[in-house]
Amino acid sequence: MDDQILPGTGRGTATQSGVVEGALHERDAMGHAPSTSFAGPPPRAGEDLRRDFPGIGDWHYLDTAATAQKPQAVIDAIAQAYGPDYATVHRGVYKRSADMTLAYEAARRRVAGFIGAGSENEIVFVRGATEGINLVATCWAGEQLKAGDRILLSQLEHHSNIVPWQMIAEKLGAHIDVIPLTEDHRIDLDAMAAMITPAHKLVSLAHVSNVLGSVLDCRRAADIAHSVGAKILLDGCQAVPRMRVDVQVLDCDFYVFSAHKLYGPTGFGVLWARPELLEAMPPYQGGGAMIDRVSFEKTTYAPPPGRFEAGTPHIVGALGLHAAIDYVESVGLDRIHAIETDLVAQTRAALPQINSVRLFGPEDSAGIVSFVIEGVHPHDIGTILDEEGVAIRAGHHCAQPLMASLGVDATARASFGVYSDASDVEALVRGIGRVTRIFG
Ligand code: PMP
Repeated sequence: MDDQILPGTGRGTATQSGVVEGALHERDAMGHAPSTSFAGPPPRAGEDLRRDFPGIGDWHYLDTAATAQKPQAVIDAIAQAYGPDYATVHRGVYKRSADMTLAYEAARRRVAGFIGAGSENEIVFVRGATEGINLVATCWAGEQLKAGDRILLSQLEHHSNIVPWQMIAEKLGAHIDVIPLTEDHRIDLDAMAAMITPAHKLVSLAHVSNVLGSVLDCRRAADIAHSVGAKILLDGCQAVPRMRVDVQVLDCDFYVFSAHKLYGPTGFGVLWARPELLEAMPPYQGGGAMIDRVSFEKTTYAPPPGRFEAGTPHIVGALGLHAAIDYVESVGLDRIHAIETDLVAQTRAALPQINSVRLFGPEDSAGIVSFVIEGVHPHDIGTILDEEGVAIRAGHHCAQPLMASLGVDATARASFGVYSDASDVEALVRGIGRVTRIFG
């Protein structure tokens, strides 16, 4: 008999509770739940959130879309988990391991409640969005698609939502089609509706673009995908840190995100999938923890999600993500959204006042502003801004096909987070002024 307590098997208390209270609730038309319905502490009002982040100080950190700084609460949870609480999960007969198993599975329930999953058994812990997409490409597309089938992506996808599909398409003899962008840099859903066919088995799109900040009308994209029987995966990396997400109302089939962009640890993330899809998917990797019984004659596998979590998991990653979700909800996603919306508006109003600055993305970009200065390489912008204590990202942002369609090699990108404020925008604008004087 295997000695592991696996999620979803009903063995062990950690696996027996249902969704977090309030996980299934009323949502608005965009699939966002009212913040009050989430479990967790009530939102904090009017506090200086910068003080929650020991990594911020007076630094103007505008690279949150790459990775978010960590609040002290997350750092403390990680230290506690690696310190006095540390033990393995799913194996120990001793109390600390049993407690750690409970904490690990509580994190899974917390994530389920956070994104509106029907049950914690729909939550697969992965290394990040990249691994989540690779898992779906291998275990779902790799099984379901055949030669001649088609996959639909968009022009603005991150490489991690392009390359895994190319790899599996090449192996299967499937094809990839690309949805163009509208003039204001959104995924063109009219074009999507016109180009989709029953040969398309999967659509995979960013919920929020990491370069442009464009927000997808997920519900409409899902309707279009489902109209031909295709499944839809949403890459939620840039959405979960800045808006309330509910997978039921978004009506997607797969949803992925990375913990480190949600103020949690690196090397950890989430794949959510409809339970019937997970049930039908074969394991991703073989090893300990993903099995039911092993013999040299025949091995049987655990039910989801354990089936997809071979080996000792990133235990502390799960606890860190739990703390990050608690933190984000203690501030309130509505408040985070409002902070970022305001700062994007300030930036989009101020930058074009400076000669030769060109903005990308729609007016209502979520938390992210990409721009170029004619005649100045974005790396030079980034270097000069760094001297001013302003950290931005410069480059292709892992979206080379998007750069090609925008007609640039690279952009400069400012992205905001819960700790951002007007002083960051002022410092950015001051720094860009200096860049244009140096190169002018
Ligand atoms: N998708 C988007 C939209 C992203 O912004 C990122 C990270 N830049 C990824 C996918 C990949 O995330 P990770 O590297 O954490 O797996």
